[in-house]
Amino acid sequence: MFDNKDSSKTPIASLGEFGLIDHLTKHFTISHSTTVKGIGDDAAVIAPKEGVEMVVTTDMLVEGVHFDLGYMPLKHLGYKAVMVNLSDVYAMNATAKQITVSVAISNRFPVEAMEELYSGIQTAASLYKVDVVGGDTTSSTSGLIISITAIGEATPDKITYRDGAKENDLLVVTGDLGAAYLGLQVLEREKQVYKVNPNSQPDLENYTYLIERQLKPEARKDVAAMLAELEVQPTSMIDISDGLSSEVIHICKNSKVGCNVYEDKIPLDPQVIATCEEFNMDSTTIALSGGEDYELLFTIRTEDFPKIKANPNFSVIGHMTKESEGMHLITRANTKIPLISRGWNALEEED
Ligand code: ADP
Ligand code: MG
Repeated sequence: MFDNKDSSKTPIASLGEFGLIDHLTKHFTISHSTTVKGIGDDAAVIAPKEGVEMVVTTDMLVEGVHFDLGYMPLKHLGYKAVMVNLSDVYAMNATAKQITVSVAISNRFPVEAMEELYSGIQTAASLYKVDVVGGDTTSSTSGLIISITAIGEATPDKITYRDGAKENDLLVVTGDLGAAYLGLQVLEREKQVYKVNPNSQPDLENYTYLIERQLKPEARKDVAAMLAELEVQPTSMIDISDGLSSEVIHICKNSKVGCNVYEDKIPLDPQVIATCEEFNMDSTTIALSGGEDYELLFTIRTEDFPKIKANPNFSVIGHMTKESEGMHLITRANTKIPLISRGWNALEEED
């Protein structure tokens, strides 16, 4: 048996999440011509027949790591688990069609709890027009685990990868950033208050948007259709699950380009700005590193700028440069600082 206490072994934290994936999968080769894209993007791409491409993506949510049932109602958890996966389909500029849902359940959950979870899954599936076509159910000795696989499709000319950005392309983000992370901070704070005084009545009025973004995120189903309508084909695309900086870096590294991101262009909701002031946090840091926004980040050719310019769904936050120029944030004070990924890392060592 594998001895996981052997200190000569390498801790997973020393590689990090992306390092581990790369380490484990770098020797896999592709042997089918129908496999258009394997590991390394928001979803894999499979071409079953000429003119159609399917995208496949899977994500797992683990109790105590990705969610806390202390403040996450099961119905919302079901909904969010679907959104997390659909977001990766939309990040390929594709349309989601089917999902499978697998759960590992500990015996502390009654049938009613699973009904709650599935009512959220069903609501999400019906609103986003995806069919639930299968899954797996098994037991767990500790918490609840949900793994969803999403399948989508698009024509080959529409599918958008992380590696297509070119020098001078504009970097665009949908919606606004940072709210989901702050929502989590608000919920964590309330949980601590509740522990001390279970009779306290939480006053969450100033944080409604933040909490909604954390508990009930919406994947950007609308963006592919909007871009098609505007006749804009993005050159690269990724969804923002780990924080803006981490995703910008993914696009840059995969596309072999650099970038300048302008701090004053990063879209923030007024509630994010107000709450950052209250919590004494820097709103730019929250947007760059917060995560769970499930907005889309993409690049477009400069000549497409007039088509998206006045659109309230899109913010141009920067532009791509030569790879040798590096990845930078241009601050409000007009200083240039290296863009670094401090995105939330599920495999970070605890101490
Ligand atoms: P995302 O944040 O978009 O869900 P991930 O960072 O989870 O993407 O994954 C990056 C890439 O690595 C994807 O192509 C994913 O399918 C692949 N991947 C992740 N974990 C594994 C694994 N354990 N084995 C094989 N491929 C994996
Ligand atoms: Mg993704």
